Amino acid sequence: VAAAPPRRVIVVGGGAAGGLLALQLLVRARADTTVIVVEPRASIGAGIAYSATQPWHRINVPARTMSARPDDPDAFVRMAGVDGNAFAARGRWGRYLAGEIAWQEEASAGSLLHVRAMGERLVDRGADVAPAVRLEDGRTLEGDAMVLATGNALPRVPTWLAPIAADPRGVVDPWAPDALDAVDDGQRVLVIGTGHTAADVIETVLRVRPASQVVAVSRHGDLPRAHLDPPRVRPLTPVFDVEAFLAFADPLLDARAAIEAHPEGWRQGLDSLRPIHRALWLAMSDDTRRAFLAMRREWEVHRSRLPAEVERELAGWAGEGRLEIRALEVVDAAAAPDGITLAGADGASIRADHVVLAAGPDEAPGATPLLRAGIDDGLLRPGPYDLGIDADAATLRVRDSAGAVDRPLFAIGPILRGVLWETIAVPEIRVQAATLAERLLG
Ligand SMILES: Cc1cc2nc3c(=O)[nH]c(=O)nc-3n(C[C@H](O)[C@H](O)[C@H](O)COP(=O)(O)OP(=O)(O)OC[C@H]3O[C@@H](n4cnc5c(N)ncnc54)[C@H](O)[C@@H]3O)c2cc1C
Repeated sequence: VAAAPPRRVIVVGGGAAGGLLALQLLVRARADTTVIVVEPRASIGAGIAYSATQPWHRINVPARTMSARPDDPDAFVRMAGVDGNAFAARGRWGRYLAGEIAWQEEASAGSLLHVRAMGERLVDRGADVAPAVRLEDGRTLEGDAMVLATGNALPRVPTWLAPIAADPRGVVDPWAPDALDAVDDGQRVLVIGTGHTAADVIETVLRVRPASQVVAVSRHGDLPRAHLDPPRVRPLTPVFDVEAFLAFADPLLDARAAIEAHPEGWRQGLDSLRPIHRALWLAMSDDTRRAFLAMRREWEVHRSRLPAEVERELAGWAGEGRLEIRALEVVDAAAAPDGITLAGADGASIRADHVVLAAGPDEAPGATPLLRAGIDDGLLRPGPYDLGIDADAATLRVRDSAGAVDRPLFAIGPILRGVLWETIAVPEIRVQAATLAERLLG
């Protein structure tokens, strides 16, 4: 006899991943289904990524690819009234998803409950049963199934930065709405990182404070590449398929050559692989995955691109002498009343009024207290390659310390990085959400 569908589904984390899942659960909910989203923020769907308040904090892909619903690809463009080729503000998308959820809640036979709190610890209730979640306010919630959607953790604070982490001139949460409030016009800001979060920080500092300067550093000093202007539509056929990849003599080198040889250029070659990213990752040998991870920076600066207008803005500021991008490994920081001095491994030193840590999210298994406690309690285990947590790739059921997947405990989004690799962007997460909701309630 098939098991009855769960009546109470608890989703821990209500950012884009938890929001996309809640939407799909509401589509399939029955009269006795309650979807409970545990999320401290005021609305469901925005999370860290789409809570951005500035119009220049843009989505890094064209709006036409950002529908919340896999079966209605134009939904975002239509409902937000944006140009399909535009790189819309991320805050706009957060509000769009919240609107989709509100509409679906009205239309749904089931109900949605938003519990505004942080989940602190998972509480084991035995094998075959979903754990409960203890909230920071002391309450405990129990459901028939639970999905972890806790998303991105703050960047890891390097040991050399720890002494100034508590100084108001050292910013270790680059995504906090007030992160840059202490910067005055005319000051010099050192940004640690040269990726997308760094680009956001640079834009805010240099746009809002016309006499300020930024130096952005990373080991490689490499900014993400830019999209073509206007961005092209992704080719329908992958430049190679999984079988061809497995037959390559040197999988990564041959794959790179095929991408570069794409008749429409490397961007189209790379983007053509998007629908098979997950299948490629799952098909790769352990050795190939490790070799890939060793060159992940190269993958990332090409794969996740800046809107062309952002690249132009950064180049303009560099030309005016307001922005410098440098390859530098920082090894020490010292704070004095008149500024902060950072020392590089090559002996260079840089003085700044503020330091902003804008490295990417910490992807370590225990990067957030809830996941750390879950691993310590044996309900979770570290993911492959020490990225996120472990789960069964087909069902998204989380593995406990023994590798078992008995509990109706699932995960979705960036915390599955080691299991699925490409699991951080909306096009991948919306499909995960629909598939998981179908498995739970279909
Ligand atoms: C700054 C930034 C910009 C990005 N821009 C893009 C982009 O332009 N395009 C793109 O495709 N991808 C982008 N990404 C990738 C991003 O991972 C996904 O697009 C998406 O936001 C992931 O959604 P999420 O809900 O898993 O993560 P998050 O946005 O990190 O949200 C997680 C949510 O879970 C909540 N939470 C965490 N722990 C708990 C807990 N213990 N209890 C209760 N709630 C909890 C948090 O409050 C948060 O609201 C960006 C990521 C970041 C960090």
